[in-house]
Amino acid sequence: MSNAGRKKDPVWVNFIEVSNKERGKSGCRAECRKCGKSMKGLVNRLKEHLKTCNTDVLPNPSKEHSCSSSSTEHVEIELGPPLSPGPSPSKKRKLEPKPIASYFLLTTSEQKEKLDKQIARAMFATNCPFSSIEHPEVLKAIELLRPGYRPPTRKTIGDRLLNQIYMEEKKIIK
Ligand SMILES: [Zn+2]
Repeated sequence: MSNAGRKKDPVWVNFIEVSNKERGKSGCRAECRKCGKSMKGLVNRLKEHLKTCNTDVLPNPSKEHSCSSSSTEHVEIELGPPLSPGPSPSKKRKLEPKPIASYFLLTTSEQKEKLDKQIARAMFATNCPFSSIEHPEVLKAIELLRPGYRPPTRKTIGDRLLNQIYMEEKKIIK
């Protein structure tokens, strides 16, 4: 027969008896009241578990469980913003990475057109050979002035930009 009539070992205080009969097995299973671990309802087994799960069953539930091997609770202490308005002394100045724009000058196509034209104008006005724009020293200077900007080639200056500026000048003169 079952062990219903048998006096339970005091160790059971710490466990919930779970019937095993539905599964066609004899005996019962025990569930630890503290950590919820389920195990065979054998007194020796339960005593063994209590050694590792040695927190007493108390109304004050202790979250710490030496026997809970499942998942370690990650406790995050969240310090919300102070409810009262006013300056927060703990407000740290965040060191954010500088936006890319502070390293490279963003040149829009509109700006590029303006720069290209002015370079061409400078070449025409000073009678510089158009090839000077491709001189490494000139390119260096331009790169320092406006990082990321690529000046027009001598071909562009002598062709498209020359025509454009010529037409513009013609309009002004008229
Ligand atoms: Zn336990």
